[in-house]
This record gives sequence, structure tokens and C-alpha cells, in this order.
Amino acid sequence: MSRRREAQRRPRLRQEADSFRCIHCRLDVPLSAPGTRHRNHCPNCLHSKHVDDHVPGDRASECHARMEPIAISVRGGGEWVIIHRCSGCDALSANRSAGDDNPLMLIRLATRPLASPPFPMERLAAL
Ligand SMILES: [Zn+2]
Ligand SMILES: [Zn+2]
Repeated sequence: MSRRREAQRRPRLRQEADSFRCIHCRLDVPLSAPGTRHRNHCPNCLHSKHVDDHVPGDRASECHARMEPIAISVRGGGEWVIIHRCSGCDALSANRSAGDDNPLMLIRLATRPLASPPFPMERLAAL
């Protein structure tokens, strides 16, 4: 009984949901995520959807196309940030990694450039 009461008391917009379905791998993803206020990407495949315009969580974009994770950046303090590129309009966005993001996918993304360097690796030995 008390659980139902609490759910009703929580202030929320009527259309706001507790989860979203990943646009890429179709996983049902709960919106609450450890370490971030606005979960904006799938913890399984790291894909996102273009819904925010300029501010994370503003839901102001009408693009709604799939956003592919293309790179990892590191902020001061060691925080990992996933760079997404929109497959519809080529917009780039930087999104904090959540605590339950798939570690293997994060590492694959971070090491991808090392798998195809723009020069022969042997050149490093000559430096
Ligand atoms: Zn996914
Ligand atoms: Zn877009």
C-alpha cells in the first residue's frame, strides 16, 4: 500500500516514463542511472537518441535520429565522456559515462584508434 502511495506522490510530468527502449539494441533501459542525472544512452551498446538540443536533458531537439558512440574523451578528474554523433544531422554531443555502462564497450570505443593508426607502428621504434 505505501509503495503505491509514494509513486503517486512523486511529482512528474504525465508523459514521462521510467524507462526507454534503446533505438539500437532494443534493450529496455531504466532512466535512473548511477553517477548521472540524465541517462541519455544505452548502458549495453552505448547508442543514444538525438532528443536534447543544447542542454543535457532539455529534450528540445526534434531530430530523434540514432546517435552512435564514436569516441571516448577524458575530463579533468578522470571522468570518461562518450562522444556521440547523430546519424541524422551529424550533431556531436558529449555525455558522461554512467556507472553501469558496459565496460567492454567502453574499452572497445577507447582503443579503436589504436587498431588503425595513420602511420606504421614500427615508426615509433625509430623515435
Ligand atoms: Zn542499446
Ligand atoms: Zn540529429
